[in-house]
Amino acid sequence: MSGDCIFCTIVRREAPASIVREDADTLAFMDIQPMNPGHVLVIPKAHAAFLKDLPRGQAGPVFEAAREISFALRHSGLRCDAVSMYLADGKEAGQDVFHTHLHLIPRFAGDGFGLRPTPGFGRIADRAELEDQAARIRRGLAQSAR
Ligand code: 5GP
Ligand code: ZN
Repeated sequence: MSGDCIFCTIVRREAPASIVREDADTLAFMDIQPMNPGHVLVIPKAHAAFLKDLPRGQAGPVFEAAREISFALRHSGLRCDAVSMYLADGKEAGQDVFHTHLHLIPRFAGDGFGLRPTPGFGRIADRAELEDQAARIRRGLAQSAR
């Protein structure tokens, strides 16, 4: 755990948080600045600034918690017809709290929330480009501690 990390402080119960779920590896609690009512954060209890810093086996439990909570949100009475999950992995991706965390944001038609890329994003890439990128990522995977 990291002493000056707000999420580690919550794990230690030294800062207030509205907790919805806990298991040996993860904690889930309400986001203090919800994008929509019912916005939950799921974190690994172990401090890891980025997803890549999580020890092997510690990422799966985060998604398992998300699976249960996405069910619970739909049965909570909160307005939730769908759930957006978002993980900002790095400053340029929008990460503000450097203890990796998965956002679960309840969604409904017309809620106004969404990713809004500028025009030009989302074109169909050509196959050679995709093959080149896939090869680069495979090389990266070969180097990573799996
Ligand atoms: P990020 O921008 O890093 O993806 O998301 C950080 C999230 O943590 C934000 O949605 C923010 O509202 C939430 N957050 C920041 N500080 C606290 C806190 O002390 N308690 C809780 N519950 N959420 C926090
Ligand atoms: Zn932490």
